Amino acid sequence: MRTVRVYSRAGEGNSPAAKNFQVKEFACSDGSDAVFIDPKLLEVLQAIRDHFAVPVTVNSAYRTPSKNAAVGGAKKSQHLYGAAADITVRGVAPAAVAAFAETLLPHTGGIGIYSTFTHIDVREQKARWKD
Ligand SMILES: [Zn+2]
Repeated sequence: MRTVRVYSRAGEGNSPAAKNFQVKEFACSDGSDAVFIDPKLLEVLQAIRDHFAVPVTVNSAYRTPSKNAAVGGAKKSQHLYGAAADITVRGVAPAAVAAFAETLLPHTGGIGIYSTFTHIDVREQKARWKD
């Protein structure tokens, strides 16, 4: 059983959440202080960073309920639980990022392919989609 960790953007924003990721990269864009990050998500993102050996940009990770509603996110979006990230890997197509993520999450997790980014989440069930 995993426990989602709650960080403070003010206190820990510049601290590493994983080797190549700072806490503030996962913060909600509405400016709220609490930053929820699932440790399993960090493992997966770091594995992606290590595999491609280029910068990984987190476009959107944790979202507060109000922010999620504002962006039209799903009611039970994994972003609400700090378990999802929309990422861009420099020079790598979203489908190629998804293909590698598939090797990390063969039986679980959500992987969504969009035109400019890849959604990755670490839910228990398996979900795959293409926008
Ligand atoms: Zn997403």
